[in-house]
Amino acid sequence: MLISLGWNVKHTQDEHHHFLKDAARLMFDHIKLVRDWSASHGGVYVPVSESTPPNEYLDIDNRDIAVSDELTLTLINPAYMTRQISELAAHNNGIQLHITSLNPIRPSNQPTDLEREALLMFETGDTQEYSHLIEDQNGLRFFYMAPLVTTRACLRCHEKQGYEEGEIRGGISVTIPDVNTAPIWGLVIGHIVIGMIGIALITNLSQKLSASYKKMHQQSIIDALTGIPNRRHFIDRLLAEYRRASRNSTPLTLMICDIDYFKLYNDSLGHLEGDDCLVKVAKSIHSSLQRGGDLCARYGGEEFIIILPNTDLSGGKKVARRIKQEIAALAIPHPNSPVGEHLTLSIGVATEVHDYPSQYKLIKRADDALYRSKQLGRNRIEYDAHDHNASTSSEIEELQDKIKQPG
Ligand code: GH3
Ligand code: MG
Ligand code: MG
Repeated sequence: MLISLGWNVKHTQDEHHHFLKDAARLMFDHIKLVRDWSASHGGVYVPVSESTPPNEYLDIDNRDIAVSDELTLTLINPAYMTRQISELAAHNNGIQLHITSLNPIRPSNQPTDLEREALLMFETGDTQEYSHLIEDQNGLRFFYMAPLVTTRACLRCHEKQGYEEGEIRGGISVTIPDVNTAPIWGLVIGHIVIGMIGIALITNLSQKLSASYKKMHQQSIIDALTGIPNRRHFIDRLLAEYRRASRNSTPLTLMICDIDYFKLYNDSLGHLEGDDCLVKVAKSIHSSLQRGGDLCARYGGEEFIIILPNTDLSGGKKVARRIKQEIAALAIPHPNSPVGEHLTLSIGVATEVHDYPSQYKLIKRADDALYRSKQLGRNRIEYDAHDHNASTSSEIEELQDKIKQPG
């Protein structure tokens, strides 16, 4: 918008200048035409009057002709005529016409500073016409000047000054008063309005875009059925948590929960019931996590994976047991389950404590523990055997914990 405004303002100012220049040039051309006519007749004789006394600077034979006692004619040469037309123009509409030269016969025809500058440029051939906008205490005025070239007819009066045909003898300046400034305010206001509408549209559009982006992002990281994070989100988080853990040398526990005999559940109750069940299990696991940094994601069909940052194996055990208890508390009937009347989970837990070879190895270890849990009869928690603390049987560990509990 700023570039457009800058370009339009410049263009409008140029157009405005050209318009004024055309008007001033037309005036100059008119004066010159009349002067040429007068010069072609060697000037014209008019009656001497109070307003038209004989031209004291016109040193020429037969300047004044006495026709009778009452009537004397005097010769008006083009310069005198221009001066009289200038006075008329100034009186009628304020336009100033000034005939001037660097070497004037008449002292009052001395050039102003601006006229001198223009005349010097004409003489050096830098320009054929000169125009300038003047802004001062008298307001905004347009100044235009073009040269007067000596013709044969001019030599009658000017030969004595040493001019030759074709030489620049002086010029006529045209000053148009009270010109309006270029109409740029309309442009500025127009651009501001368009700019504001544009900003409003862009803001509105970007808000809509960012809302859709947020929605899309949510959809891309949230599991559509259960509403908990999906596998992709889990991988991103695991990578971040794994790096953090290895940087700070803090333990990181991973847990995979798999619903036991879920195919049988679907087969006996139908897929819709199966979906409902998955939602309940997801909610239950999610609400079993108490720390802000813990994350539960849907890893596969009926598998859920849990990240427990800064949690060692004993902490992981507590969480795994809590999850099992919560699922047991749901008491979801599983008509054909070989391990009981209600829906159960098998859980594999692995913890990284000492070294951090790869986050995928940790997943593999949790998966191996889950596999053992399935192999050993399901509805149980198995721990990663790599860890020193988990080297004893998981069942013995559970028993020891129960013994420690008061009562
Ligand atoms: P296991 O105890 O060995 O884990 O047996 P399982 O039947 O749970 O495991 P299996 O891998 O044999 O079957 C998983 C089943 O989970 C298959 C499919 O019927 C069910 N399942 C997976 N995703 C969905 C889902 O989005 N909705 C429903 N309703 N069922 C699903
Ligand atoms: Mg499975
Ligand atoms: Mg299963």
